[in-house]
Amino acid sequence: MHTAKHLRSTLALSALLAAAFPSRAQAPAAQPVAPPQTTYVPAPAFDTAAIDKSADPCNDFYQYACGNYARLHPIPADQTAVDQFYQLFNVDTQELNGILLKYAKPDPSRTPSEQKIGDDYAACLNTALINQKGLTPIEPLLKEIDRVSKPGLPYLAGELQRIGVNAFFSFGEQQDFKDATKQVASFDQGGLGLPERDFYTRTGDKDKLIRQQYVEYITNMLSMGGETPQQALKDANAILAFETKLAEASMTNTERRDPVAVYHPQTVADFEASIKPVSLAPFLQAIHAPASLPGPLGPNSIVDANPKFFPAMVAAILSADMETLRAYLRFHLLDTFASNLPTQFDQARFKFYGTQLEGQPEQRPRWKRCSSTVDGSLGEALGRVYVEQYFAGDSKEKTLQMVHDIEAAMDHDIDTLDWMSPATKIKAKEKLHAVANKIGYPDRWRDYSKLAIAPDDAFGNALRATAFENDRELDKIGKPVDKGEWLMSPPTVNAYYDPSMNNINFPAGILQPAFYDPKADLAVNYGHIGAVIGHELTHGFDDQGSQFDGNGNLSDWWTPADKAQFQTKTGCLVHEYGSFTAFKGDKPADDVKVNGKLTLGENTADNGGLVLAYMAYQARAKKEGIDINQKTDGFTGPQRFYIAFAQNWCENSRPEQVRNQVLTDPHSPDHFRANGAIVNQPGFAPAFGCKVGQPMAPASNCRVW
Ligand SMILES: [Zn+2]
Repeated sequence: MHTAKHLRSTLALSALLAAAFPSRAQAPAAQPVAPPQTTYVPAPAFDTAAIDKSADPCNDFYQYACGNYARLHPIPADQTAVDQFYQLFNVDTQELNGILLKYAKPDPSRTPSEQKIGDDYAACLNTALINQKGLTPIEPLLKEIDRVSKPGLPYLAGELQRIGVNAFFSFGEQQDFKDATKQVASFDQGGLGLPERDFYTRTGDKDKLIRQQYVEYITNMLSMGGETPQQALKDANAILAFETKLAEASMTNTERRDPVAVYHPQTVADFEASIKPVSLAPFLQAIHAPASLPGPLGPNSIVDANPKFFPAMVAAILSADMETLRAYLRFHLLDTFASNLPTQFDQARFKFYGTQLEGQPEQRPRWKRCSSTVDGSLGEALGRVYVEQYFAGDSKEKTLQMVHDIEAAMDHDIDTLDWMSPATKIKAKEKLHAVANKIGYPDRWRDYSKLAIAPDDAFGNALRATAFENDRELDKIGKPVDKGEWLMSPPTVNAYYDPSMNNINFPAGILQPAFYDPKADLAVNYGHIGAVIGHELTHGFDDQGSQFDGNGNLSDWWTPADKAQFQTKTGCLVHEYGSFTAFKGDKPADDVKVNGKLTLGENTADNGGLVLAYMAYQARAKKEGIDINQKTDGFTGPQRFYIAFAQNWCENSRPEQVRNQVLTDPHSPDHFRANGAIVNQPGFAPAFGCKVGQPMAPASNCRVW
């Protein structure tokens, strides 16, 4: 997929919430269907029902804080998991749906933005019309693929990538790692249909099965797209073989965490020399890149994220027969637009990516998916209405106060670190003081006036929205950086740190109960959203963030001795989390453990963030004259703080989802995020009276920040 290469460390896995779009059968309706009104309510900020009082908090704190959660929260058939993120996401989707239904009616008094969000929603819901149109909307693109020969591939790849098709590799815009004031073009690996390169190379039974199911899925799509079943099967196997070559030249997600490993500035001439006989001009023209590419090495230069990938990709293309390449592009085109094609395409895609890969029995209902679609296409137009209705009052002010408290805690924390020299402390503080705080929503809203949305053209809307976003991204190349830009829409239930911007970002969507509840006590809010804020701030100082300075530049501000100490300390976390078995296979060889290196940044952020939130909580309570030892619902303030934190991660998840997450995502599964951080908290054992040596209060533990 065409993805701009923004490094971004998020709070929660987006795959869970972003809803791989594709779906399950629905009876065609003549008119846009009004969605069924399922009523979702937020989780309580302090969930006493989830607590298992028969468990010993010093033995297994997750069991104590969340022991009843899974029993009380069976996983709905249209979800891969349930946790507080998902609970809030459902509330959020319901709220967006309410907004969208209002504007989905053809009312001439709608503003241009209201027309766009309403019509995008109405078109998406109208599966009867989508089915009636059949393959007609996509026919011109399929014909173009049928006609293409090898010299025409660069242009076609540009056209397809511009509309979101995962064709061969990826291209986008990024801030230059070494000069964050510049926005440059970058080329990166891509072109795979399975989630990550190792899905092509691992040899276990489960992986073999997934590859077989992938081939079945490709076969299914190609035959629905007009091939004979025999030809489709032959092509599907050839596509898997072709993608395997791309995969073998790709880096793993773990390798890609190192910014140095994915930063190779090159002149366009040198890059072209590495991909002979391909010339870039037709591709750049088709994808609407600027005519000149001012980059890290001056005019006409780019970043190549993976120099090994491109020569191997060109060799794979040159050695493949044209029939396979056409089938490959046809498949990826159909896959990209499956949800805007007749229902059987949507169903086929869901069967593979939803049911087989993630274990989800039923597709999310269309209304939920269409709410997510509009949020994806017109996030700031929809988000503007959302924040007016759901982010009012003093939420922004209150959150900002917590952010300042937590930044003050980090300032103090740096002073007290016994392993860092004064020289590095000065640099760390410079970086900390330069962090920009973004809360809720952007100061300036994105302008969608050039994006045309029609009430009867789901396919065209999806295509135009993706092209619009592509062009907006690529237009940044060579221009000054907009520090006010958001990489998430306001309703998003997530948060992120961006090392090139050196900013922390909390969309309005997560500043809601249970994460932030204006009615909850201090301990509970600091345990929930306070830990989230601390998490994002600590990302600036994790294995990745620590390589960037306060101006967002990749530059080493550490003394060698301090760096060595930091690596020893983070190594402790790699070992701790790497010992957790997340998925039990049919036989021990198929078990999957948490990848301690892939999840290091997130685990560092969880651990440090919780330390900071606790310091900030204590300081705030003192300032406001609150006695933290006074009990509420039978718990002291510190106890409520830690329970609220652990309850961020109460979960009930499908094993397939957990397996997939562990193999692809930098976030540890929820369950481990609770105890994984708790055992390293200096404040935890005193709060619950645990004795050193008990499982939650080990004699030796890990501490970075
Ligand atoms: Zn994170």
